[in-house]
Amino acid sequence: MAQRRTLIAGNWKMNGRRADGLALASDLAGRLKGAGEVPFELLVCPPFPLLFPVGEAISDSPLLLGAQDCAVKQHGAHTGDVSAQMLVDAGCRFVIVGHSERRQDHAEGDALIAAKAAAAHAEGLIAIVCVGETEAERDAGQANAVVSRQLAGSLPAGATAANTVVAYEPVWAIGTGKTATPQDVADMHAHIRAELAGKVDAADGVRILYGGSVKPGNAAELMAVPNVDGALVGGASLKADDFWAIAASC
Ligand code: PGA
Repeated sequence: MAQRRTLIAGNWKMNGRRADGLALASDLAGRLKGAGEVPFELLVCPPFPLLFPVGEAISDSPLLLGAQDCAVKQHGAHTGDVSAQMLVDAGCRFVIVGHSERRQDHAEGDALIAAKAAAAHAEGLIAIVCVGETEAERDAGQANAVVSRQLAGSLPAGATAANTVVAYEPVWAIGTGKTATPQDVADMHAHIRAELAGKVDAADGVRILYGGSVKPGNAAELMAVPNVDGALVGGASLKADDFWAIAASC
């Protein structure tokens, strides 16, 4: 069985100004340094304007930096876009693509998400590809089919265990306080693991994160579920104490 190192990723979304981001990242970097050997990787994904200052502040720490999106193109006349190359320049190692908020708010589809992941791979970034069904889709018994379709469409050619992380985030659990039950999570993560075989090189080594209202109080239970290799944390990643407690529960 492939060894999969637990990844605890904080998605700050559109929150915080420079001073907030610097304080949060420096706090986490300090805890990580003080902790020595830990059984997880810790990642923060600030909004674009904070990438450079946060990246500089944590450059001598094991705290990892990621972004929340990237463009398909490398550079040029693409107003408002930020390229994977620019993210690398800021010190990023990871980028989230296909988050349900981008799928909903910006009508992003699977083909675009696959192209973004490919652009990230081309620059040596690890793409965190998000999938997950809505409540209506789950109620209609379509959860597995929706996630299968998203995986088939959103994972680019050339995806491997080294350059790709999958995040399962049921849309109805994001920011709602509702969490999928450990059994629901176990079933879906096993389904995703099976779907990855044949689609991705070294599929057994791909990390599959759970996301959706992960908190200090439910993290240990969720992280103990088979095929859960970490968490993608939104709201609770904005407080150092909560985010650290989630990581420490691995
Ligand atoms: P949440 O967000 O932890 O606030 O539910 C998770 C996410 O959207 O990545």
